[in-house]
Amino acid sequence: MARLVMKFGGTSVANIERIRNVAQHVKREVDAGHQVAVVVSAMSGKTNELVGWCKDASSLYDTREYDVVVASGEQVTSGLVALALQNLGLKARSWQGWQIPILTSDAHGSARITGLDGARLDEGFARGEVAVVSGFQGVHEETGRITTLGRGGSDTSAVALAAGIKADRCDIYTDVDGVYTTDPRIVSKARRLDKVAFEEMLEMASLGAKVLQVRSVELAMVHNVRTFVRSSFDDPANPQAGTLICDEEEIVEQQIVTGIAYSKDEAQITLRRVADKPGVAAAIFVPLADANINVDMIIQVVSDDTTTTDITFTVPTADFERARSILERSRSEIAYQTLQGATDVVKVSAIGVGMRSHAGVAAKAFKALAEKGINIRAITTSEIKFSILIDAAYTELAVRTLHSLYGLDKA
Ligand code: ADP
Ligand code: ASP
Ligand code: MG
Repeated sequence: MARLVMKFGGTSVANIERIRNVAQHVKREVDAGHQVAVVVSAMSGKTNELVGWCKDASSLYDTREYDVVVASGEQVTSGLVALALQNLGLKARSWQGWQIPILTSDAHGSARITGLDGARLDEGFARGEVAVVSGFQGVHEETGRITTLGRGGSDTSAVALAAGIKADRCDIYTDVDGVYTTDPRIVSKARRLDKVAFEEMLEMASLGAKVLQVRSVELAMVHNVRTFVRSSFDDPANPQAGTLICDEEEIVEQQIVTGIAYSKDEAQITLRRVADKPGVAAAIFVPLADANINVDMIIQVVSDDTTTTDITFTVPTADFERARSILERSRSEIAYQTLQGATDVVKVSAIGVGMRSHAGVAAKAFKALAEKGINIRAITTSEIKFSILIDAAYTELAVRTLHSLYGLDKA
């Protein structure tokens, strides 16, 4: 007998028929003799609708009340999945985050899990019950208020629960049958990977592949949770194994580049003719850091007159206006001539642990993109990835070009 966590995302519980299908997947594992904790997302589109309602009710909303509203989507599906399981003759009950409890920080809207007590779920397992847990939700220990874990947070609920109840496996069921070399919805030649290294998955997730929330991959890596990404649309009687996220050592055939990701959640800011003297970078970036704005790519170019410099960097799209107004306020201190901004940009990245031992991987990409007439606005590199910033209109062309260039296209 094993203990499993089975997580079902929004499209997998989008309506009652799909919820019945989820119940069949769970029944298969229960019939095989396993103890099962199910983690569910809200029905697809529901969280967006709830977020929209909050913004409509109050443009500068109180994030504590936002969490009360958006956590409700998962409450509905946990009850419905429990009902569907009972309908198949299984013992099942729903659990809200606060009932377990899943304790979190008080960073409402993007809280981090700080503790998870599996004791009450153990009692349920001893009674032969399937636990159906609302993903995405937690509770702050001191205030007792409901929190949520940030968009896509049910993945993190599932992995944290798997670690907390010492599950043998965490299966993330979604609408694709595994992790692909790039988003299969934009590149039809994307290939499904049997295994992906934790570090690569971490980069892919943080660079835009939304198939797993970044934090869930971190937790899986730290707690060594055996995590699979697989499809809920497989026949419940005959499912495929999906993609295993695992240690690098477990992967025999390593490619140089494993995957291509893209993120439209990126905005570019350029300050022209900034005085080229010590302290300028600090004058720009310290106020942004103080405002909790994450600056990603940075490039500095000396202007023709050599006494000034141009500085380009990126911030998350959601922080663009805030960043701009902070910089406008400190204009006299930084002494720049103009501020230019662009939100119609995309960051395309190539990821692979093989880059550690191969030189010239990124250079190849610059040439291939130039041949397609794609202009590169900014570049960053690190040990196992490089990213380029380009016009959003070229997203698909750039992703496809890099995907072919590194031999990732399926035959
Ligand atoms: P869920 O609702 O089940 O949590 P998500 O929509 O959050 O599902 O994540 C699954 C989606 O992630 C897929 O439909 C796919 O379009 C997208 N995706 C992006 N990059 C990848 C990738 N490299 N491999 C697989 N899916 C990817
Ligand atoms: N329902 C939440 C969201 O849409 C959490 C999740 O699905 O993982 O972000
Ligand atoms: Mg998701």
